[in-house]
Amino acid sequence: MLFDLLLNFCILFTFAILSYWPFQDTVRSNFPFPKVHPYIIGIMSGLAGFILMESSVKLSDTIMVDSRHVVIIISGIAGGPIAPIISGLIIGLARIFMTDTVTTTGLLGGINVIVLGIVIGVFSFKYPMTFKNAPRYFYYATTQTAALIAILIYHSTTNYLHIVYFILFSAFSFFTVLFILIELNDHFKKIRHTELLAETDYLTGLYNNRKFEQLTHSYITDSTKPFSMISIDIDHFKKVNDLYGHPIGDEILKELGTRLKILVSSCEGYVTRNGGEQFVVLVPNSPPAMGLDLGERIRSSIARSPFPVSNNQQVTITVSVGVSSYPDNGMTIQELYSAADTAMYEAKAIGRNRVIHYTNIKA
Ligand code: GH3
Ligand code: MG
Repeated sequence: MLFDLLLNFCILFTFAILSYWPFQDTVRSNFPFPKVHPYIIGIMSGLAGFILMESSVKLSDTIMVDSRHVVIIISGIAGGPIAPIISGLIIGLARIFMTDTVTTTGLLGGINVIVLGIVIGVFSFKYPMTFKNAPRYFYYATTQTAALIAILIYHSTTNYLHIVYFILFSAFSFFTVLFILIELNDHFKKIRHTELLAETDYLTGLYNNRKFEQLTHSYITDSTKPFSMISIDIDHFKKVNDLYGHPIGDEILKELGTRLKILVSSCEGYVTRNGGEQFVVLVPNSPPAMGLDLGERIRSSIARSPFPVSNNQQVTITVSVGVSSYPDNGMTIQELYSAADTAMYEAKAIGRNRVIHYTNIKA
């Protein structure tokens, strides 16, 4: 009996990992359509429940005990309300028809699982299943199943003891699996957070240089359309720091990041902070004239509106802007970046607070 229970637990554990892990990271996942995940998880749980029943512990000729009710709850954690309904139906129908002739215990056992799946599914539409509230669903499922076993078995001390074993085994299986899933979930969260940190500039919250390279690379490889790169550098920022102090300089950098994001939001562009007081805007589907136009809108908007900083001060800054466009000014990240930078330095050279497109630089 112990060996069978252990086998049952191993099947449940394998299923829980399989139904949880691959669906946690859409980028690495082999299942890229999130909407069908609940259905896949529901079917997987149904099959797992079927295997669990095949290796179940027989309390009598007709009564089988296994962790099929636990599998239904785990499917709800991983797949939402749809998954328990599907898995309950599959496991329930399999229980009813797995014997040559439909028996009363088979029928009641099957109906029990179908009811469990539907009740858990319907309730979790209203109270979505989480790691925190999943034990409540477990208590319900175990109580209902234990009650059914109690009704079906012959009343004897040994059989009552079997019900206690069933409850203990269910609790051990469920809480062990839950613990592992919570641990996994924490790890995934940490990985996502680390990934976010690796591509974010700590001061402004914008994308950093590393993400800038990734984005530009994907524009070059995925797009057949032209795009523009706008390099933005604050004029005489050292003087701003000297005059108002470094912390106020930081406030201005943050506010500039926010303003740039708003300015490029209409064209679905990206803003990155590539170092110090230099920012880059990537504008998809934009030939040189469009890039130049957005560069001018950025320049004039920054020059026009002073930056409110601490101590009720207002600081006016200007930016010099250089623009390059793919494919006219380069086919690689380095070529485009160097062209935008050259144009930006040209804007500095001819007086600052200007916008220059690399194509318009006189040889
Ligand atoms: P230019 O018009 O030629 O660009 O002059 P500039 O003073 O802006 O350029 P320069 O390269 O001489 O100085 C850049 C300044 O930017 C120096 C540095 O103190 C400041 N800076 C760079 N990173 C930060 C930062 O994170 N916070 C603050 N407050 N200042 C920064
Ligand atoms: Mg500068």
